[in-house]
Amino acid sequence: RLVLAIESSCDETAVAIIDADGNMLANQVSTQIDFHARFGGVVPEIASRKHVEVIVSVVDAALEDAAASLGLTGGAIAPSELAAVGVTQGPGLVGALVVGVAFAKGFAYAAGKPLVCVNHLEGHLFANLLAQPDLKPPFIFTLVSGGHTMLVHVKAWGDYEVLGETLDDAVGEAFDKVAKALGLGYPGGPIISKLAETGNPKAIDFPRALNSRGDYRFSLSGLKTAVTLYIEQETKAGRTIHLPDLAASFEAAVFDVQYKKAKNALHATGCKEYCIGGGVSANPHLREMMIKKLGRQGIRVTVPPLSACTDNAAMIAEVARRKFDRGEISPFDVDADPNMTL
Ligand code: ATP
Ligand code: MG
Ligand code: FE
Repeated sequence: RLVLAIESSCDETAVAIIDADGNMLANQVSTQIDFHARFGGVVPEIASRKHVEVIVSVVDAALEDAAASLGLTGGAIAPSELAAVGVTQGPGLVGALVVGVAFAKGFAYAAGKPLVCVNHLEGHLFANLLAQPDLKPPFIFTLVSGGHTMLVHVKAWGDYEVLGETLDDAVGEAFDKVAKALGLGYPGGPIISKLAETGNPKAIDFPRALNSRGDYRFSLSGLKTAVTLYIEQETKAGRTIHLPDLAASFEAAVFDVQYKKAKNALHATGCKEYCIGGGVSANPHLREMMIKKLGRQGIRVTVPPLSACTDNAAMIAEVARRKFDRGEISPFDVDADPNMTL
């Protein structure tokens, strides 16, 4: 009973195949980063066209990988051998989503297999199950990605109370904008995170917004402005900016707030379990901080495998597998939904 899943919500064309027990047999990610980097961010029209170009070969590669994983030499899994086809329905770029959804519908219809639509944000949450299969609600989950920043009380699978969201920029977006302001390239997260390794997080005192107890909302735009002002001020004064210190101090401002709000939510709900997801959860300082500091308070902390933090289809396959098990199948007249929420 194999489930194939497709992810195309942004600038990754990804296809994964998972078996009935959750073993990953194929996990292909084709990234378009090089095509968008020169523009300093994802260009939606380019994203859609690149998905169209590569989706067939990414699916074929996944079918071959799955055959190899099963020890079937020299071939590929046939679509008829799949149990279901999962696909990201939203949220994301509408044109990019449409490519994946239209392809998945055609592929499933031709193979006579059921279609299972998946919420991309639920995918980022379920990435944790790839690291910790016995993760069970209730728990607190922080989503930190390129488009979202959310603190969520997961009461049961499918029962999500969003405790707070960002009022302006998402955390990943803030990393990207700070890197852009420094002329460091795109995406900014991995670049800032590498620089921060050798920096002093206490070098510059950047603001921590909405930092009072019980307030689960986030705001990143003030921090972004503070960083921009700092760069201007130092440049004007003819001083060279110490990039590692700037990166480490920026990270500290972002992650202090993340830690504090997560801790408060854990205490307020009485949950003993915590996890994170989304591209920024690949950040080693954030992972370490949560594991160490929350761990000391008796909280079990799960982080996704590094490969499942940024966009991938393995996490979509994990959601699809469980939905399919529960008989949650989508009709063939579904459409992409760019504004889906948790
Ligand atoms: P969403 O999931 O909200 O629709 P998205 O799919 O575009 O948004 P992701 O792929 O989950 O976002 O994450 C991409 C973001 O993660 C980018 O903003 C990138 O800079 C950030 N990121 C990636 N690696 C790191 C890292 N090591 N440290 C900090 N940020 C990172
Ligand atoms: Mg991406
Ligand atoms: Fe994402």
